[in-house]
Amino acid sequence: MMEAFVYNAHPARVIFGSGTLRQLPTEVERLGLRRVLVLSTPQQEKDGRATAEAIGGRAAAVFAGATMHTPVEVTEKAMALVLAERIDGIVAVGGGSTTGLAKAVALRTDLPQIVAPTTYAGSEMTPILGETRDGVKTTQKSPKILPEVVIYDVDLTLSLPVALSSVSGMNAIAHAVEALYAQDRNPIISLMAVEGIRALAQALPKIAEAPADRKARSDALYGAWLCGTCLGAVGMALHHKLCHTLGGSFDLPHAETHTAVLPHATAYNAPAAPEAMRAIAGALGTGDAARGLYDLAHRLGATLALKTLGMTEHGIETAADLAMANPYWNPRPLERNAIRDLLARAYAGEPPR
Ligand code: NAD
Repeated sequence: MMEAFVYNAHPARVIFGSGTLRQLPTEVERLGLRRVLVLSTPQQEKDGRATAEAIGGRAAAVFAGATMHTPVEVTEKAMALVLAERIDGIVAVGGGSTTGLAKAVALRTDLPQIVAPTTYAGSEMTPILGETRDGVKTTQKSPKILPEVVIYDVDLTLSLPVALSSVSGMNAIAHAVEALYAQDRNPIISLMAVEGIRALAQALPKIAEAPADRKARSDALYGAWLCGTCLGAVGMALHHKLCHTLGGSFDLPHAETHTAVLPHATAYNAPAAPEAMRAIAGALGTGDAARGLYDLAHRLGATLALKTLGMTEHGIETAADLAMANPYWNPRPLERNAIRDLLARAYAGEPPR
């Protein structure tokens, strides 16, 4: 008999395909918006401006200041524009950093958001926001944070550099891996997790070889959507806690850190989550989940050593202490020595054990 479960569906409208950003003006109209603020990073300002142009008269302003970790100072600048321009809706074109800014504004104003993702981070599917104030990152959840409309346009991902595509894809896979052994897992989200891992594991090596392969790009974006849904729906465990700690305390890059840690966090949890490991290995098409993730990242040419990402060796002990403090629920109880060893292997870039 199936175990009892709770499934919370998040109410977002999803438009998926190639050239779908052309539907943005219709979506803006559908929501009744008249004074939209378009958000981007400085690196993607051109995309932000082109998007505003496509919206036409209903676009009131562009703010191209989104940056990693959603610092409140940046949000305050965007908020000043929201008030000055009497903004009634937000459009974000970019990765997790741009989506983060849209969410931070929505949390403060409850304005509707339309997000067009250009990476595989998956933030657009979650009611979660991580904000940084004075260098400290705190995470909160609210229905106000969840974007109302998500436009997945494969064309927007064609420019994502190969190295970033690989680690961003591994970041997405990490959401699905932890969803499969989450305490509040359920059969619907597990279906999405397995399909998300499968789609990404097949697509990422093709993208690494031919970044303009539209079929592979489309499969990867579909996988990223599924994995993002997993992240928004069930609790994350040791892997996300470690990455949060490493990102926050050592300023390590987000997707790259996920890629280096994932095989080791998976190996740590393997003895306590055999069913999840079988599902992950099956989706990867390998015999062993942790080794399969390591081999996939290796095949993609990703950096597998935290030391190459800027972590110092004495950081291993600090990170182990931080991982033990305020832990997330995890299928295997946290053992400090084993976690220190896991971090030491990720630091060196060794295969998981
Ligand atoms: P990012 O948004 O910081 O993007 C990295 C860089 O790549 C930026 O300069 C960006 O402009 C550029 N870029 C993005 N897409 C591009 C494209 N298609 N072509 C060319 N350049 C492109 O990176 P990310 O990994 O997507 O997001 C990381 C951030 O998102 C972190 O702050 C993380 O905490 C957050 N995040 C939050 C959630 C959540 O649910 N709250 C989920 C995942 C990630």
